[in-house]
Amino acid sequence: MSKFIPLSVPNLKGKELEYITKAVETEWVSTGGPFVNEFEEKTAAYTGAKGAVSCQNGTSGLHIALQLCGVTRGDEVVVPTLTFIAAVNPVKYIGAEPVFMDCDDSLTIDTEKMAAFFEHHCDVSNGKLMNRLTNRQIKAILPVHVFGNMADMESIMDLAAQYNLKVIEDATEALGTYYTAGKYKGMHAGTIGDIGVYSFNGNKIITTGGGGMIVSDNPEYLKRAKHLTTQAKSDELYFVHDEIGYNYRLTNLQAAMGLAQLEQLEQFIEVKKANYEYYKKAFEQISGLTLLGFKDNIRPNFWFYALYCGKEYAMNRDEIIQYLASKSVQSRPIWGLISEQKPYAGSEEYKIEKANDFLEHIVNIPCSSNLSKEDAAYVVDCLKTAEK
Ligand SMILES: *Cc1c(COP(=O)(O)O)cnc(C)c1O
Repeated sequence: MSKFIPLSVPNLKGKELEYITKAVETEWVSTGGPFVNEFEEKTAAYTGAKGAVSCQNGTSGLHIALQLCGVTRGDEVVVPTLTFIAAVNPVKYIGAEPVFMDCDDSLTIDTEKMAAFFEHHCDVSNGKLMNRLTNRQIKAILPVHVFGNMADMESIMDLAAQYNLKVIEDATEALGTYYTAGKYKGMHAGTIGDIGVYSFNGNKIITTGGGGMIVSDNPEYLKRAKHLTTQAKSDELYFVHDEIGYNYRLTNLQAAMGLAQLEQLEQFIEVKKANYEYYKKAFEQISGLTLLGFKDNIRPNFWFYALYCGKEYAMNRDEIIQYLASKSVQSRPIWGLISEQKPYAGSEEYKIEKANDFLEHIVNIPCSSNLSKEDAAYVVDCLKTAEK
């Protein structure tokens, strides 16, 4: 039996233990400690955002972001169907409704279809974009930077300006991804729209066990994000609360780990890039298998690798996953489409086509930042041996 190769696991070889020990020794373990502020400042500095507010996870960050953007009960938010469900559930938490869009060849939200939807199925009245079918106002677009690729932010920002919409970037998978050309050259995923959200879940590019970060250039948003994530206390001493808040702030223990992880982020991206390039070339030699690329005008963070398994290959998606499992290699299909999930059975979707094809053909293969060259070669060998 060969050694188990996991899909995506944490890499904790930096100063994690040192900083966490410091938090424990100083007995600052909860939300009040200095590492939390430092982690916020360093995340803002790294991404180029004006400010950052920590939160318990990416899901809670998106929950807050929607509220900051004024999305309320009965409003609608345009979301992709090809994503992890945590991108969409927060829309429902606040009683709003998602409208599902297809993806394009980059796996991110299809902006041409979105533009067609706005043009042919919505009306603008008093500066509000109204969905003709439901007569509800569309308030925001929530693109997801799938697997560390960049959604088409130029088109999304143009549509948002044209129709007076807010943009909340789900950058939970894309910390470190930025534009290298075009209108947003130098700008990071998460910092282009009104608000961006990162995640530090265990399988993300850096982890705090669980954790998240809200970033924005809008000081009002940042102030209110801090307020809402810390129980909406308007007077520290007398416990005066001016709205319903949440206990969403990151703890000092988590932030200690986050700081150590952030120090290593660029190294993680280097390893992920090298393994990506290795896989990409290797699969060019296997008919029917293609490692999907990232966009040309970005520096991706290479978080997750999506292997497209075509009809010419000896096995289909499920057979590949089972076969790899038998060889001690963990892999998985892409997420089930969110518009097909039970809680979203009644939600509107618009011309979903490509997402179905990707769902049927994509397998995610091992991509950890501590994946060795030998392990990557072993994965390739398994798939080579299985070739027709
Ligand atoms: C991980 C993830 C989230 C949620 O982040 P958590 O920190 O796990 O709550 C949201 N959206 C997408 C696309 C994700 O991959």
